[in-house]
Amino acid sequence: MNSLWNDQDAGAFAGDDLAMRVYSSRLLGSSASLVLHGGGNTSVKSTVKDFFGREREVLFVKGSGWDLKTIEKPGFPALHLEDTQRLAELESLSDADMTQQLRALLLDPSSPSPSVEAILHAILPPKFVDHTHTDAVVTLTNTPNGEDIMRDIYADCLVLPYIMPGFILAKQVYEAVKGQDLSRYKGIILKHHGVFTFNDDAKVAYEDMIELVTRAERYLDTNDIRVAHTKPAEPDIDLLGLAAIRQAVSKARGRAQVAVLDSCEEARTYASRDDVAEIACRGPITPDHVIRTKRVPVILGEAPHTDVQGFVEQYQAYFECNKNPDLTMLDPAPRFGIWKNNGSVAFGNSLKECNIIKDISRHTRWAVQIGEQLGGWQPLPESEIFELEYWSLEQAKLKKGSASPKAHQGKVAIVTGAASGIGKATCEALTEDGAVVVGLDINPEVEAHLSAIGAQGLVCDMQDTECVREAIDKVVAQYGGLDIIVCNAGMFATGERIEHLSDEVWDNTMGLNLTATQRFIKLAIPYLKLGVDPSILIVGSRNCLAPGAGAAAYSVSKAGLTQLARVAALELAEHGIRVNVLHPDAVFDTGLWTQEALEASAKRYGLTVEEYKKKNILSTEITSRDVAKVLSVVASDVFSATTGAQIPFDGGNDRVI
Ligand code: ZN
Repeated sequence: MNSLWNDQDAGAFAGDDLAMRVYSSRLLGSSASLVLHGGGNTSVKSTVKDFFGREREVLFVKGSGWDLKTIEKPGFPALHLEDTQRLAELESLSDADMTQQLRALLLDPSSPSPSVEAILHAILPPKFVDHTHTDAVVTLTNTPNGEDIMRDIYADCLVLPYIMPGFILAKQVYEAVKGQDLSRYKGIILKHHGVFTFNDDAKVAYEDMIELVTRAERYLDTNDIRVAHTKPAEPDIDLLGLAAIRQAVSKARGRAQVAVLDSCEEARTYASRDDVAEIACRGPITPDHVIRTKRVPVILGEAPHTDVQGFVEQYQAYFECNKNPDLTMLDPAPRFGIWKNNGSVAFGNSLKECNIIKDISRHTRWAVQIGEQLGGWQPLPESEIFELEYWSLEQAKLKKGSASPKAHQGKVAIVTGAASGIGKATCEALTEDGAVVVGLDINPEVEAHLSAIGAQGLVCDMQDTECVREAIDKVVAQYGGLDIIVCNAGMFATGERIEHLSDEVWDNTMGLNLTATQRFIKLAIPYLKLGVDPSILIVGSRNCLAPGAGAAAYSVSKAGLTQLARVAALELAEHGIRVNVLHPDAVFDTGLWTQEALEASAKRYGLTVEEYKKKNILSTEITSRDVAKVLSVVASDVFSATTGAQIPFDGGNDRVI
């Protein structure tokens, strides 16, 4: 492992302890094999002036909820150093008392909570203390000869057996280093957990960490320990199988889950091993991964058999076997799966959560295979992992990041005609409500427009059935399934009376508004059947209920869509798929309307544009955003008992009423 230290960059922070701490913490954080997603922590001892202007010795230590990769100064709450050190002298300290006392020792009570390792950082005398959960070192300790290997390559380090993090770990280190000159050690190796290095110079502490990790890497190199690479068969992913897996996991978790498949060559090599079901289920690299990934993955067989139920039963047994009377079981759903021959699948409430889990599972499969080469992967026993999974301080970390779930959290949606107007606004509304949203449009600008609002745009000609099929398959391959489709793509050709209506306008309008939508729905149905609270939404028009002269093609296509939706509601109810139509009117901020068209229409009624926009009995203006919000609500469980309905959203139209 190479040092990323740059004297010139670091020079800018000389004399500012906290700035230097931020700099070298970010160096550590930038390497995924040192720390992953919030793992690891760092500190610096310094002085600050308190409210009364007195110099106070403090410990700046990483705050909960911050990631070393992106940490900034506010990510390091300051604790009164002496009293933090004094906590280590106590015989015992409950988690609740430790949390409370550490908060009481904060200079600024509004700071984030300090790391659960704060006391440990405080009792190590050097100014800079670095702590990582480096894969290479921890993996070596997760093997039968771990002890001997540690003795060989870390003779100048203090090597300690595994113990729960928090107060008891601080106490263990406190007793081990008490009265000793710490400068005789280059670092502390905590078996099955990680590494500490320390020095008064930030550069030395950082580079000692790199050097200790390099020793572990070199050990693997010299002994020719590497993950064997066989060329696995080309993947042939069964997308309906993937959707079935996602549906089963969502059911076990009690809400929709995004499922992210990793079918890269390494993932497939691992998933193709004959022994994968056994070696993958021995346990995680380090116990703190358990709060993200659970102890073991689910082993997924050939679709449609998923065996998520088997995982749930095993999880219940694991809880029963290890529980104490104060504990309530967490949800029993797996967080990732090894899918025989296909790779691994990460499950989460959001894409972000899935990507974190995907990263951890990638590092885990490396570690497990390395461990196998070193005499057998041997992580900590189940009971230790359980203790951490149900440790209140770890659970608190998770709760911090999980506000109450949004209406469409974890759901996957496709919206057509998404580059502008109602389609784009609907992508935005569904994204805000927690869904992973893909918008389709023939306009290439859809990609940029949607990425700007946190959704994904795909260029797709809705009248090209193959293109639509590919788009749907791509969404399922990326996110694991499909729950909501919003059929919005459509055109409105300038009005002509039937007598003069061109065949071309009629055919094009029917082709896009009606036929293409029918084909899209047809292709989506197999996946929607495997969705979570699945819903089809049709953007109709006031024209269906109150047609006007000169809009035959548009009105007939929307009326046809409405009838299609009614039949679909009847056919799909047995699969729990709801189908509803929204009939908006007078939505002028869409691609269908130009300023000239608006002015011409207003003039026809003898109104100003402003008056024309509010030409309804509530005298209200309706925007794409308003329509989008209603569509999102109709797709939510608020409308769980409504299907086959037509909902006007037109400011009140006397002809409709
Ligand atoms: Zn740690």
